[in-house]
Amino acid sequence: MIEEVRLATTEEVVAEIRRRSSFVMVSHVKPDGDTLGAGLGLGIALKAIGKRVHYFQQDPVPRNLRFLPDTDFVSRELPADLPGDALFVFGDMSSASRAGEYLPPVERKNTLNIDHHLGNERFGELNYILDSEASTGSCVLVLLQAMGLAITAPVATCLLTCIMTDTGGFIHSNTTPSVLRSSAMLMEAGADKVEITENIFANKRFAAQRLLGLALSAAVLEEDGRYCWTYVDDGMLRSAGADGEDTEEIVNHLRAVEGVEAAALFKDFDGAVRVSLRSSGRINVQAVAATIGGGGHFMASGLTYPGDLQAAVAGVREALRNAGL
Ligand code: 5GP
Ligand code: MN
Repeated sequence: MIEEVRLATTEEVVAEIRRRSSFVMVSHVKPDGDTLGAGLGLGIALKAIGKRVHYFQQDPVPRNLRFLPDTDFVSRELPADLPGDALFVFGDMSSASRAGEYLPPVERKNTLNIDHHLGNERFGELNYILDSEASTGSCVLVLLQAMGLAITAPVATCLLTCIMTDTGGFIHSNTTPSVLRSSAMLMEAGADKVEITENIFANKRFAAQRLLGLALSAAVLEEDGRYCWTYVDDGMLRSAGADGEDTEEIVNHLRAVEGVEAAALFKDFDGAVRVSLRSSGRINVQAVAATIGGGGHFMASGLTYPGDLQAAVAGVREALRNAGL
């Protein structure tokens, strides 16, 4: 049996961060508010104590996250003069491959993996995985507090963005009393909750709402009403005038249908079929996604299906049935 890599303690991670002077915060492809907010929040806090910080992200900053501080510095390029001992901090990703293919190879001794996913592959030299935390930003908050660093207003806005993204605006079941206490503290530190809400949960483009209409019209209810799925393809994107960023909320509307235990959105564009899965609490969709090379959380997971839309629909239904749907 392969021995599992040991998780790092808060003290070990704090000591490593103190020892280093340069950092690269790495966010995952198709970034969300948690991966980006965690990197920015940690980066801004470390810059305030004189550390050098860069932000690597393969994809552009999504429109609805451009309000976050420091997003002008997020890039898929690394500076030529990056010191050889810069620490690469991977945030919110269960495997290093989620950083995308533009990230140059990083020596393992220069990697810190901060995450809250079930089934994180522990690919870092240090693996700081708190899977009871609602967001990666919450893990960053634990670190900043252990380091005794000031939570300034910009840092607080980044970290509250992480929490609000991953709790669906304090709706999902990961919204514990502790999450609400941390969030209150972040608001007291100056986090702009109104701006976060406005950017992430309101301010929808008209094209996104039209796309939601098309996707809901195509939705199918199966398994005696326990499974609801739909898809978005190039034609629907074109007809709504929308793009991939406009698909984010759709799957939550499927999950919200009464009696539904699992929901799936099949995103059939950009040359691949990406699948978003959501659970109402009985089915572990992280385990389901993991059987098809994906991952995530008990209640929310994703994967890229190796096949066309029709195969993906059949394969995911089968995987859900095997998981007890
Ligand atoms: P979403 O449906 O919002 O894209 O993803 C839901 C959750 O599943 C997120 O926590 C995300 O990190 C995870 N996830 C999405 N796609 C993948 C994937 O291809 N691989 C892995 N390991 N996790 C994914
Ligand atoms: Mn997350």
